[in-house]
Amino acid sequence: MVQGLKHLKKNNILVIQTAFLGDIVLATAFLQELRKKHPKEEIYFLTTPIGKQILEKNLFNLRIVSFDKRKSDKGIFGFWRMRNYLKSLHISEVYCLHRSVRSVLLATTIGAKSYGFREAALSFLFTKSIKRKYGDHEVEKNFSLLKMNDEHLTNSSGPTLSVQEQIRPFREPYIVVCPGSVWYTKMWPQEYYLQFVKKLLDKGKSVLLLGQKSEEELAIGQTIEKEIEPIYKDKFKNEIGNTSLHELLYFIKESEAVISNDSSPLHIATAFQKKLLAIFGPTTKELGFFPYSNPSLAKVAELEQLNCRPCGAHGHSRCPLGHFQCMKNLTVDMVWKKFLELDLANTK
Ligand code: SF4
Repeated sequence: MVQGLKHLKKNNILVIQTAFLGDIVLATAFLQELRKKHPKEEIYFLTTPIGKQILEKNLFNLRIVSFDKRKSDKGIFGFWRMRNYLKSLHISEVYCLHRSVRSVLLATTIGAKSYGFREAALSFLFTKSIKRKYGDHEVEKNFSLLKMNDEHLTNSSGPTLSVQEQIRPFREPYIVVCPGSVWYTKMWPQEYYLQFVKKLLDKGKSVLLLGQKSEEELAIGQTIEKEIEPIYKDKFKNEIGNTSLHELLYFIKESEAVISNDSSPLHIATAFQKKLLAIFGPTTKELGFFPYSNPSLAKVAELEQLNCRPCGAHGHSRCPLGHFQCMKNLTVDMVWKKFLELDLANTK
């Protein structure tokens, strides 16, 4: 929790987003717009411990409140403790970007006006709610909560992050490749990634693999490393599961370009305005998580004509139809062709 209560004023504002890392990165666009609208108010952001870390060097002068809902703050006691703490902050308005029961109850039981999405659990408790528009980007859906009370607002800025300097992984320019995801079906097959990484290295690029310390992602990294490392020693590093969050941010920020599945590194790359190739399988643009970037910076590789796409709001642990064509039929040549559109030096 935030230390010391001496800065408390009335009319403080609270924003809640305790979902996945990618959602928290996208919430920075909302926070930025909220700060523009309320330059002087105290703005609190209730988020996960990882969200707190990522926003430690935030650009919007926020007070970050960490809610560890899976560990120290879990269960009814954790909820009640946090609810009482938030109540003590003299919050007058709450924007609930998250749609879980717990977040909605925190937003609506602290004596403040609350704004959230109609699709959220118990949304009738909000002072005012709005329907999420299918087809809009998540950034725009969040922004609609602000627009609901101010019709003069027009467009949202994109997500944005800041990070302290770390040690660079290579002296020369390098490409970050993030082959993982929480969902199996969102991952382009590892044998395709292997061929893709080889192609990058053959073109003289340096390659850095990044990802989480999960069993699946570590295994993908090791498979690629085993094939690549002996041949391209100085130009390749596998840092999957081996970086702090700040290193991961910094390595992405310093890269020449990022290749990622529909996963949080995509949104981090967007927040640093990096060149980006995003690989989409079972999820599509209409779900709202395509890169929120200038089209010259971000390209998407996908099978637009495959009619079983999208097959859910998220990925799955296996293809519901068994054939997994959305990723298997997205060949290395097709993805490479998209990659060339990024127009990086020495790739043709
Ligand atoms: S059902 Fe279609 S979109 Fe979904 S995982 Fe299978 S191939 Fe991909």
